[in-house]
Amino acid sequence: MPKRSGSRGRSSNSGQKPSKWQKTMPQGRDISRILDPAPYVEHSFDGDWFIQFMPAVNALKTYICPECGRKIPPRTAHLVIWREDHMFGKDRAIEERRHWHSKCWQTRSKW
Ligand SMILES: [Zn+2]
Repeated sequence: MPKRSGSRGRSSNSGQKPSKWQKTMPQGRDISRILDPAPYVEHSFDGDWFIQFMPAVNALKTYICPECGRKIPPRTAHLVIWREDHMFGKDRAIEERRHWHSKCWQTRSKW
């Protein structure tokens, strides 16, 4: 009859010193979160809108601004905007989000 002792009784030497330093180092994501705050809601004349600031470091693609019809080149800080009160719900609203020049959103005409 084998006894079930011996294999677990002693701590082995092989896994010495778990690197505790790696665990406590902050990850890069934390930094990007600071630059990427939660969207806020703007109550406007034409409804309620979510507005998400897109910092230059996170803007990796070219977008077309719906206000002026011109491009927002990569690495340009801008705004991402979608309806807060979309009739088909929040997911649909986010799908239809638009990228705006920050200035265009502020000065947009009352269409
Ligand atoms: Zn624009």
